[in-house]
This record gives sequence, C-alpha cells and structure tokens, in this order.
Amino acid sequence: MKAFAYVNPANEKEAVAALKVDAGSTALPLAGGQDLLARMKDYITTPDRLVNIKGLDGTIAGTADGGLRIGSAVKIVDLAEHDQIAKLYPAIVHAAGDVGTPQIRHQGTVGGNINQRPRCWYFRNEEFVCFKKGGNRCFATTGENQYHAIFGNEGPSHIVHPSSLAVPFVAYGAIFRVLGPNGERNVPAADYFTMPNMGNVRKENILADDEILTHVTLPAPGNVKTGHYEVRYKQSHDWPLAMTTVVLLMNGNTIQSARVVLGAVAPVPWRSKPAEAALAGKPLSAETADAAANAAVSEAKPMSGNAYKVQIARTSVKRAILQAGNL
Ligand SMILES: Cc1cc2nc3c(=O)[nH]c(=O)nc-3n(C[C@H](O)[C@H](O)[C@H](O)COP(=O)(O)OP(=O)(O)OC[C@H]3O[C@@H](n4cnc5c(N)ncnc54)[C@H](O)[C@@H]3O)c2cc1C
Ligand code: SF4
Repeated sequence: MKAFAYVNPANEKEAVAALKVDAGSTALPLAGGQDLLARMKDYITTPDRLVNIKGLDGTIAGTADGGLRIGSAVKIVDLAEHDQIAKLYPAIVHAAGDVGTPQIRHQGTVGGNINQRPRCWYFRNEEFVCFKKGGNRCFATTGENQYHAIFGNEGPSHIVHPSSLAVPFVAYGAIFRVLGPNGERNVPAADYFTMPNMGNVRKENILADDEILTHVTLPAPGNVKTGHYEVRYKQSHDWPLAMTTVVLLMNGNTIQSARVVLGAVAPVPWRSKPAEAALAGKPLSAETADAAANAAVSEAKPMSGNAYKVQIARTSVKRAILQAGNL
C-alpha cells in the first residue's frame, strides 16, 4: 500500500477542510474502510491523505414532518435493526439486513455503502486501465460481462451500481445532504447518482472531491405499501444479481402512483418508468404485478454474457409487488 497521511477531524467542517489538498494530490474520506482499504491494498486507489469520518453523525432521529434523518456514520446493522425504520420503511430494513455478512454490516456505514465503488472485475484489477481509471477503453464490452448492466448501457462504462441501500433510498424519495467548502446542498437521492455518459465517467455520483455525504433524510412515507426483493447466487457474502424496491401510494386497493427502482442492473439505481406506468390506476393484484414486471424489462439491453439477468430482474420486480400486496 502507498504511504498516506491520516487526519482525524473533530467535526464535519474540519473533515471537509481536510479534504482540500494541493493540485496533483488526493484526499479521501475513510468511513468503515471495507471498500476503500481493499482498493488501496490493490493499488486501485492511491490517496495521499485519508480523512477519518467515522466520528460524523451516527444517529437516527425523527424529523418534524414524521420522517427520519440518518447520519452517514450510522452502521448498516443499525438500519437493519431499527424499530422505527422497520415500521415506516421496511424495504430499508430488508436491504440493510441482506448486505454482505454480519461482520460487514457491523463495520460498513451508510455513507460508505452509498459511495462504495463498482465491483467490475476489470476495475478491481490494477492491470486493467479502463475508462473508470483514466484509460480509453471498457474491457467488459468484449470481455466478461456476466454481472454487468442490462439497463442504461449507453456506455462508456457498463458497471452496475453496487449499493443496496441506494435502491430503497431512491424509492422512498430520500434527500441526501452534501457538505462542501461552500456550505451544504440537499439533493434528491435520484439525482445524486450519475450515468457514465453524464460528464465524468470516473465517478458514480455528483460529489466533488472536497464534498462529503453527511445525512440521508427520509420523508414521511404516507399511505404506501412497499415491497423489496433481491436475488443472489448465494444468500450471504455477495452482492445481488438484481433487486427491486417498490413503493405504492394506495387509494383503497387501487394503486394511485408507484415508484419502482431496480438495483444491480444499471450504472445507477434504475427507476423504471414503464413499470410505474403499468401500475398507476390498477388494482394491486397478481395480474398487475405480472404486467408491471414485463413492462420493467421491456427496455432492457443486455450485453453478450448477461441476458440471463433480464428474467431475474423481471422476477425481482414481480415479487416485490406481490410482497407489497401480501399476495
Ligand atoms: C463480501 C462482501 C459482500 C458485500 N455485499 C454487499 C451487498 O450485498 N450490498 C451492498 O450494498 N454492499 C455490499 N458490500 C459492500 C459493503 O456494504 C461496503 O463495503 C460498505 O458499505 C462500505 O462501507 P464502509 O463504511 O466500509 O466504506 P469505506 O470503505 O470507508 O468507503 C467507501 C467509499 O466511499 C467513500 N465514502 C465513505 N463515506 C463517505 C461519505 N460520507 N461521503 C462521501 N464519501 C464517502 C470513501 O472515500 C470510499 O471511497 C459487501 C462487501 C463485501 C466485502
Ligand atoms: S464496465 Fe466500467 S469499470 Fe468495468 S471495465 Fe468497463 S469502464 Fe471499466
């Protein structure tokens, strides 16, 4: 591992100040360290300075409008075991509880989970200098792409976003608080994540180098039914092949409007407008779930080795809706 300086800020303002470095140097926030330290050991990421942000807000508190505010230093396990989150936002408890293993959930933080880097095996190998590492090609297009994107494949990168928590956060309409040297900005979760063709292919979100994510605020859920379904090769110690959160705003047994967000299938948490349109105004039934699942995959464009993920994505949408309706 390359030698680095270590800074232990007392608060979020000091953390942001410590991220400012001279041109040509890099500084990165260090949360649970599970992703960042692994990348450093493999020489994928070689920062000159680490800024420890484990001391940032690690609390979950109610908001005036009946929602919740989650500090970025909250551990994943604390989401998975939180009574109020289970009551108001069950999909978050489900997603958090399925992350990795108990050890990973005890060490990993909300901020680290949302900002973890892609799992693409070319990205994770020092020898492959692809677009995401400043190179001029994507090795997955003609190489091994079994776990890559089936939606949003305009390129130039074809990763799937690795964060499980990001999916229900987008579905519940969360707001991310970002702090930088010029103050804070509050960004809808859906606008936080960026497609590879939206400017900087080397990043997965809108954060500037000297900004950190400090809080996730969830609005009061309202009269919604939610479902969450994940498919993995194995039940533990792995990322999903596909997952879906659905949040259905109900009027009796009729779905007034829907948010359908798929994970592990696109470079960002993927909101499926065709599925949402197929649900709006319909009764919550098995037939509706089937039609919405078909609509969700109607815009899939798999790569050479991952067409199998289309059916898995379809299943995750259908089962999430069935779960929401207790069907
Ligand atoms: C075997 C295994 C299985 C896993 N399975 C899953 C899974 O199913 N689903 C899933 O979602 N994850 C999974 N993970 C990933 C795990 O959840 C992440 O490694 C973890 O969430 C990262 O959190 P951390 O706090 O350790 O982050 P760190 O490693 O400290 O940080 C990760 C990155 O985010 C940046 N960062 C951290 N906090 C902030 C912040 N507040 N603001 C801005 N940038 C920040 C860091 O600079 C770094 O680049 C798995 C990991 C392993 C090892
Ligand atoms: S999918 Fe993205 S991370 Fe993977 S090789 Fe292609 S450009 Fe690199």
